Amino acid sequence: MELLKNKILSEGKVIGNTVLKVDNFLNHQLDIPLFNEMGKEFRRIFNRDRVTKILTIEASGIAIASIAAQYFNVPVVFAKKYAGRNMDSETYESEVYSFTKQQSYKVRVSKKYIDVSDKVLIIDDFLANGRALLGLSDIVRQAGAEVVGAGIVIEKAFQGGRKLVEEAGVRVESLAIIESMESGKVIFKD
Ligand code: 5GP
Repeated sequence: MELLKNKILSEGKVIGNTVLKVDNFLNHQLDIPLFNEMGKEFRRIFNRDRVTKILTIEASGIAIASIAAQYFNVPVVFAKKYAGRNMDSETYESEVYSFTKQQSYKVRVSKKYIDVSDKVLIIDDFLANGRALLGLSDIVRQAGAEVVGAGIVIEKAFQGGRKLVEEAGVRVESLAIIESMESGKVIFKD
């Protein structure tokens, strides 16, 4: 998606060779006209999949999932990383290993919000090593529902997450695919 790629080139900051900081439009301040275009693009890509629910993970996935959901006319469910005392006791949960934090954490979704009749589109802001997506697709499968695919805003192809996720049987569609970020320069796949 050219609009997104241009935004990454003009406003993204590469940290080291592996982390892309896009606080300006995706992770802190949110560019809503851009989000609307991304939402429409996800709808175009998954138009034939009869999506009934969008699943994401707190916190950064919630904004793009919510805007995209308007084009699908379906609810958004977000997996919780921090289960407070008001969390339902009946939950699906999965373990996610974070390479950035070098530790595992649990993600949880109440059993009320996904069931066997659901066709679930997973949406997230980044695909790096693929662990967040694996955890979310695990939750959908525990519910007996179908994962129709994963819609990703920015995929860092050099971290290999796609292979892991596709091996788990999940279709991956990314709006921008970064091949490398050596010496602070972002190179896209196509
Ligand atoms: P994964 O589980 O695929 O390794 O990592 C995905 C999660 O890590 C995303 O939900 C995203 O929040 C975060 N993440 C991974 N790489 C980056 C990055 O380069 N920049 C930002 N802003 N977040 C990232």
